[in-house]
Amino acid sequence: MFHNSAIQTGPVRVTAPPVFMYHSISPSTQPDPHRLRVHPERLGRHLRLLRRLGLRGVSLSELLRANDQGEADGLVGLTFDDGYTDYLEYALPVLRRYGMTSTLYVVAGHLGGSNQWDDGPRLGLMDVGQVREVSAAGHEVGSHTMTHPHLAGAAASTLAAEIGGSREILQNVLQVGVASFCYPYGEYDGTAADAVRTAGYDNGCVIGDYDPGDRFTVPRCYISPGDTAAHIIARMIRHSLRLRLR
Ligand SMILES: [Zn+2]
Repeated sequence: MFHNSAIQTGPVRVTAPPVFMYHSISPSTQPDPHRLRVHPERLGRHLRLLRRLGLRGVSLSELLRANDQGEADGLVGLTFDDGYTDYLEYALPVLRRYGMTSTLYVVAGHLGGSNQWDDGPRLGLMDVGQVREVSAAGHEVGSHTMTHPHLAGAAASTLAAEIGGSREILQNVLQVGVASFCYPYGEYDGTAADAVRTAGYDNGCVIGDYDPGDRFTVPRCYISPGDTAAHIIARMIRHSLRLRLR
């Protein structure tokens, strides 16, 4: 039995602190047409910047838990989509060096496979053992569906299989409750968000630093391969201004 003690119903305003969205972390120089790869040294510079600003990167669940208690000041959510194997080799050591945690969103139907949904270069995805390793290292593992489909407008049976089915698989793999969900391509609608809630997740996140930003559509800042410290600061300022202007 798995429980989520913190399931919220109804819109809950999230989230004063920003959430960063990364994908692949690698020094590879192969083509990156979708601009999803950040060099590990650059990730290190981002985390060093956070530390200098007195901020700490945490998993999305930890961020929202702190936010629920009004204690999210000084926290930034760190998320990594798709579950690439390079996370283990390149992201984990950097996160460890700065004492920060993260949420890794894996595609439960492609564990040990590759990013077949993408027309870009093939990248390896973590297998069951590697996903367990991430969890054992103190990071959160969330679901990024079974097959990385477009969920906006999807049939109820597809939503149940992709959203609920992936949660069941990951809970069996990890033997812990899976609280966090991430919409592929950031695409969602009200029905998909309801399916995330119904499946027992605590939260869901999208792409784009915009409204509405409730608990099941938490906005995130896309971090691009070339983002310098100045870009990161600008993204955080824009995020907080948008929240204030809302
Ligand atoms: Zn994805």
